[in-house]
Amino acid sequence: MPGKHCCVKNCSSVSHDCRGNRRNNVLQFFRFPTWKKHEGEHVSDVTRRRRISWVAAIRRKDITFDRISESMRVCSLHFHSGKPSYEMFENHPDWKPSLRLGHSDVKQTDEARFLRLVNRRTQHQEQPPSPAQQQEQVPPLVAGKIKCNLIYYEMTVNLK
Ligand SMILES: [Zn+2]
Repeated sequence: MPGKHCCVKNCSSVSHDCRGNRRNNVLQFFRFPTWKKHEGEHVSDVTRRRRISWVAAIRRKDITFDRISESMRVCSLHFHSGKPSYEMFENHPDWKPSLRLGHSDVKQTDEARFLRLVNRRTQHQEQPPSPAQQQEQVPPLVAGKIKCNLIYYEMTVNLK
């Protein structure tokens, strides 16, 4: 079939009909984001995560981080604004496709599960901090990260 088509499960968006006529001018088709390895650590990190997120969102067995065919496109129906956001806007809802992905069984990510666990643990720990903790002037964000790491460590140990 000429033109582009959307690779999302159960999405039948195509740019041209079988006679090669352009079908729908409203629809746009987007390539998978590339991993920009050579533009600094931060860009490399975000663009790598973005590509991973797209692959995870599309969830097709034949699409993996390292194996995305050049012709693979995602159409505008899967973005709130009709197109992907700027690649560095990681918190933008359109940083990755999120609508009509053809799978309703949206699994909670490990991260979400992990954060819930952290919250549960944090709520239980209401005893006053030890003098040692009070002396440390750790910014809350860093403190949270350290706590996460500790809990994660405990989880891993428990799994063994
Ligand atoms: Zn589509």
